[in-house]
Amino acid sequence: MLELKSYLQAQLPDMIALLTELVNTESYTEDKAGVDAVGRLIAARLEALGACVTVDRQASAGDHVIGIFNPGGGSPISLYLHMDTVYPPGVLRERPVRIVEDRFYGPGANDMKASHVIALYAAQALRATGLWPAREMRLVFTSDEETGSHTSRRLIEDTARDAALAMVMEPALPDGGLKSSRKGTGLFKVVARGKAAHAGAAHALGINAIQEIAYQVLKLQSLTDYERGVTFSVGAIRGGGVTNVVPDYAEIEVDTRVSKTEDGEWVREVLFNLAPALPGSTLEVSGELNRPPMEYNTQRLAVFERVREIGRRIGLDLTHGPSGGGSDASFTAALGVPTLDGFGAVGDGAHALHEHVLLSSLPERAALCAAVLAAW
Ligand SMILES: [Zn+2]
Repeated sequence: MLELKSYLQAQLPDMIALLTELVNTESYTEDKAGVDAVGRLIAARLEALGACVTVDRQASAGDHVIGIFNPGGGSPISLYLHMDTVYPPGVLRERPVRIVEDRFYGPGANDMKASHVIALYAAQALRATGLWPAREMRLVFTSDEETGSHTSRRLIEDTARDAALAMVMEPALPDGGLKSSRKGTGLFKVVARGKAAHAGAAHALGINAIQEIAYQVLKLQSLTDYERGVTFSVGAIRGGGVTNVVPDYAEIEVDTRVSKTEDGEWVREVLFNLAPALPGSTLEVSGELNRPPMEYNTQRLAVFERVREIGRRIGLDLTHGPSGGGSDASFTAALGVPTLDGFGAVGDGAHALHEHVLLSSLPERAALCAAVLAAW
C-alpha cells in the first residue's frame, strides 16, 4: 500500500497541472457550456485510464459523465464528484489561480476540482502499482450539486443502490477529517399578502404585509434549536415599495437544516401550517426539503473505522466529524448504502474568497482513495 503514496508523490507536478487546467475551466452551475467543458476534460482522462465512459446528456444543466472500470466486477464502489462551482463566469479575472507555498488558490479548487484530480490519479496509481482491484469502480461526475442536484439525483441513487460503498469526494474537514454526518437542507418561501391603502388617508383600511411577514420572521427564527440540530434562517426579505402606501406584499426565503430525518417532516409541517397573525392577511408557502440528513449512526461509524484502518496502512491517522452543509452523500446515505464523505482535498474556504487546497494533501488523499478502492 505504501507504494501508492510514493508513486503519487512523484505525480504531484502533473496533479498540479491538471488542477490548474480544471480550475481555469470555469464551470458555474448555470453555465452549461462551462460545465460541459470540464466534462469533456474528465471524459478524456477517464478514457485514457481505460474506463467505459457514458455521457448523460442534459438539456439545460451540464451533462453528467460516468466512468466505469471493471464493469460487472462485483462489489462495486461508487465515487461521487460534482463538476459545477458557485462562481459566475469571469471570476478568474479577479481571482486567478495562484500558488503560495503549499497553498493553491482558485475558485472551485477545494470544492471540488482537487477531488477530480484525486480520483483520477487514484485510478492511475492503482494501474501503475499493480494494485488494480477486480471490483467494479464507478466515477460519477455530476453537473448541478451546488443548486440541489435536481438533474443528477436519480443518477446518483441508481449508481449507489447496489454499491458496497459510496465515497463522496467533497473536501475534507480542515484538519483532514472525513465527514460522518451532514444536515438535511430545505429551502422555503413564505409570501404574505395584505391590503394596499393610502398610508395617511386610509391607514386603518390597509393590511400591512410587511408587518405580517415580520411576525413570521420572528416566529421561524425562534424555532431554531441547536441542541436538537434544527435551524431556521431567514436569508432574504422583500416587500413593499413606496412609503405612502400600506404594502400588500412581502416575502421571505428561509433556509432550514435538520440533523434527524424525522425533524425534516416536522419542519415541513411547521412551514406549511404557518397561520397569519393579522386579521385579513394571507400566507402562501412553497419549497421543499431538498436533501435528507446523513445521520451519524452505527453503520456510519463502522464505515469510518474500516476506512481509518485502511488509512493507517498508508500512514494516515484519520478523524471524522460533522458538516453543516449539504452534499450528495445525503442521497446515498438515505438509501442505506454505506456512505462516507470528505474524501477530497484538505484545504479551506469553499465558496469563499480564500478558497484553497493544500497541495501536499493531493498525493495523500489520492493514496487514501486508491487504498480504499483496493482494500475495501
Ligand atoms: Zn461541493
